[in-house]
Amino acid sequence: MLLGIGNGTSEFYELLAVANELTREAFDNKGLVFGQAGINAEPCTKNCRFCSLGKGHYSLSSIWRRSEEEVMAEARSFIEAGANDVFLMTTADYPVDEFLEIGRAVRRITPDSVRLVANIGDFDDDTAKDLRNVGFTGAYHIHRLREGVDTGIPPEVRLRTLDAIKGAGLELYYCVEPIGPEHTYEELVAEMLRAQEYDVGVMAVMRRIPVPGTPLATKGQISALELTKIAAVTRLVVQPHRAMNAHEPVQMSLLAGVNQVYAETGANPRDAEANTERNRGMSVARARQMLADAEYEV
Ligand code: SF4
Repeated sequence: MLLGIGNGTSEFYELLAVANELTREAFDNKGLVFGQAGINAEPCTKNCRFCSLGKGHYSLSSIWRRSEEEVMAEARSFIEAGANDVFLMTTADYPVDEFLEIGRAVRRITPDSVRLVANIGDFDDDTAKDLRNVGFTGAYHIHRLREGVDTGIPPEVRLRTLDAIKGAGLELYYCVEPIGPEHTYEELVAEMLRAQEYDVGVMAVMRRIPVPGTPLATKGQISALELTKIAAVTRLVVQPHRAMNAHEPVQMSLLAGVNQVYAETGANPRDAEANTERNRGMSVARARQMLADAEYEV
């Protein structure tokens, strides 16, 4: 019913006001910036129909893998710029052992106050424990909209990974994504309820970017206003205990209970530029400015 509220009606603004008030109170008016580094740009066999890295429609201008030193430098620059959490992201085929080694090295230069988060392919209980042991505090993982239809991964594999994350005591970061115009509100609500079930601390919503060359690009994009409404409803349903995000960052979502924004570098499934900081990716400074403009404390 809440998602059915007409955008721009007075009820719409009431909805935004409630979500905003809850966030400002519950999170003490604090704004958070997370920095995510995509550490490899390589064709991915999972071939998701919305992702610029999918093997069948690879849309990036180059192919590369960052060295350990390069990843450490990116993490260091996020930390020095004031990022609260640092995310390391790979495609699904990236070797786990190499990722663990890089994670261990990044942890060594990361202050205890900064959380370190893995955003990688699916994994089992043992890998979840390994991630924890090398110093990751959490993992970003989701059951995507139309998982197994628009992606090459069976839904049960995604769910098993979510259970492994929780089982290992890692913090789970969740998101309703990638939202396109064709998705029904029932599909969005299913993911909100899943996040509620997993007792998610940091929640997000993300609209699909129609990257030229990706199979779903022709379906277009939802508006920033629609994303803002979905963020408000998600904030009310899930009641995350640490932060709420909408991606990619849109200023108006900060009126609707969103208090966390991502900065991004390297490869990005929503970008055809292989170093997203040169195109769609926002810097930590810009993300902090967005939050400050909405009068969040950063
Ligand atoms: S979204 Fe992830 S799993 Fe899917 S093709 Fe892109 S990199 Fe691979």
